[in-house]
Formats: sequence, C-alpha cells, structure tokens
Amino acid sequence: MSNSNLLKVGFVGLGSMGLGMSRNLHKAGLLTAVWNRTAAKSAMVAEETGCVKASTPADLAALCEVIIICVSEDEDVLQMISELTPGLKSGAVVVDCSTVGIATAQTAAAKFANLGVGFVDAPVSGGSEGADNGNLAVMAGGDVAHLDKAMPALEAMSARVVHIGEVGNGQATKAVNQIIGAGVAQAVTDGLAFAEAMNLPMEKVIDVVGSGASASWFLSYRGPSMVQGEFPVGFKVALHHKDLKICQRMAAQLGTSLLSIEATLTDYEALMADGFGDEDYSAMYRLKKRKFTPRD
Ligand code: NAP
Repeated sequence: MSNSNLLKVGFVGLGSMGLGMSRNLHKAGLLTAVWNRTAAKSAMVAEETGCVKASTPADLAALCEVIIICVSEDEDVLQMISELTPGLKSGAVVVDCSTVGIATAQTAAAKFANLGVGFVDAPVSGGSEGADNGNLAVMAGGDVAHLDKAMPALEAMSARVVHIGEVGNGQATKAVNQIIGAGVAQAVTDGLAFAEAMNLPMEKVIDVVGSGASASWFLSYRGPSMVQGEFPVGFKVALHHKDLKICQRMAAQLGTSLLSIEATLTDYEALMADGFGDEDYSAMYRLKKRKFTPRD
C-alpha cells in the first residue's frame, strides 16, 4: 500500500464505533480531520491525534480525499451527505460505515456521481471492541475503483474487507448480519437465563459452551457482563431495533417475515418502553431472566 501515508482521510461521527475507527486511522498515519455533531468529541480526538477539528462537514471535506461517515440512521447519513457536499473535491470518495437502508446508499451514490465523487457503502461488524482493536469486518458495495481508493483507510480499521458488488449490496449484507445477530442474541440469552435458573456456575458455562459448537462472539464478549446484570454499550438496543426495522421491510419486500426479526423487535420495544434503549443489546437478558422460576 505504497500511497497509504499520502491519503488524506476525514472522519464524521465519533460515537461508540467512530472513536475507535478514527484512532486506528490515526495510528496508520491517515487521519487528517474529524467532525462530530457534539463538538467536545471532535475536540478530544483532535487534541489526542493532532488532526484538524473541522468546524463543519464541508470544511472537513475540503481537506480530504476519502471521507468516512459513521452516524446513526438513514436521515442522519442523508443530512451528512448534504452538509459534506459543498466542500467535496472531484475525485474524492465518501464511504458510509453506518448501518442504513439500501435506498440511502443508492441516493448518496447518485448524488455524488453528478459531482465526480465516488461512494462506497461499507457497513461494519465487530462491535465497539472491533472498532477499538481495528479488526472489524467490512461489507463493501460500490465501484472497484472507488473501493480501491478507500482501501488503505478501510484496512486500517478492519481485519477483513469484502467487496460484495454494486452500491447497496454492502447494506444488504449487513442486513444478513443483523438478522443472524438477532437470532444469536435470542439463543444466547435464552440459554444463559436457563443456566442461571439451573443454578449452574455461569463463568464455567460460558467458558465451556463458548469453546464448542455453540460458540459465538455474543456469548464470549457479552455473556460475562450480562450474567452480572451489566449491559454497557457496545451496541445500543435502539440501534439494533433500527436495523431490524430495515430488515423487516426488506423481508416483507421478499414476501415473508422472520421469527428472529419479529421476536427481537418485540423484545427491544419492551426494553425501550422501560427506558433501556441506550443499554447494550445484551439487555435482552433482563427479559429472559423473568421467564424462569429458579430451580430450588
Ligand atoms: P452512537 O454511539 O450512538 O454514535 C452515533 C454517532 O452519530 C455520534 O457521533 C452522533 O453524534 C452521530 N450522529 C447521530 N445523528 C447525527 C446527525 N443527525 N448529525 C450528525 N451526527 C449525528 O452509535 P454507534 O454505535 O457508533 O453506531 C454508529 C453506526 O454504526 C450506526 O449506524 C450503527 O448501527 C452502526 N454499527 C454499530 C455497531 C456497534 O456495535 N455499536 C456495530 C456495527 C455497526 P453525537 O456525538 O453528537 O451524538
């Protein structure tokens, strides 16, 4: 990657994910500028890394060849796209790592194509730990030339980048990931609530089950805290709920509904109604525990 040190990368959205991702760009020598809605976070990253704290997204865009966005929902991405536009230089590539709908990716790509700017939808998986450790999995949709330009930045934040095809296919693949994630969360929280009701030693259960065929990231990384009644983010219930609403619409367009989506949406709506929407999605364990009468 001979040109990686020359690439000027800007990062927009310094939340649970963006903080670690931007720090890994800095470690690779690529981070030129940051912008965040809550300016205190961009001030912190700028002070820590020596990069520019941009006053507006357009100011950031004017300094960068590759701009990475990682904000919450569709409308937030669309807003960032509008606010970046006045500063974008022809030949730049915008990479959206947020989890949003396919239509948002397609809208962004069409808008930028008119300006000679590339767009790649590149949602990620691996949680805030993956963001901090630089070992995310990236599911990328877009032109090969645009992806190639952004590749040094994506590689600095991830262990794996897979090009899935045209714009939107990254988000479609992320929907697959979120459906599987919902099913795993259901299975792990059911299993651990069952184990606790059986009065089993939970650390040992997580150790041995996590070493066999039922191993999963969620069991190993979230099991130990959830059985202590702790649910630090991580990945917020409200964000996974947002993702599963996207998945629900996509499934409906394909003529079906899926049990893992429907059951998880119902659980998350109960958690959000009780004020737990900003907890990690392992808070599903709260609901599962209530179902069991512990063994004497
Ligand atoms: P988060 O901690 O809630 O942070 C959200 C970020 O987006 C913050 O920087 C926030 O700014 C910014 N933002 C939200 N709305 C905005 C708007 N209208 N204009 C400008 N900035 C806005 O979320 P996160 O966990 O980092 O997730 C970010 C994205 O990655 C989401 O799409 C999520 O689904 C996806 N994702 C998350 C995980 C995970 O484990 N957390 C894993 C994979 C993918 P403020 O600081 O001002 O609030």
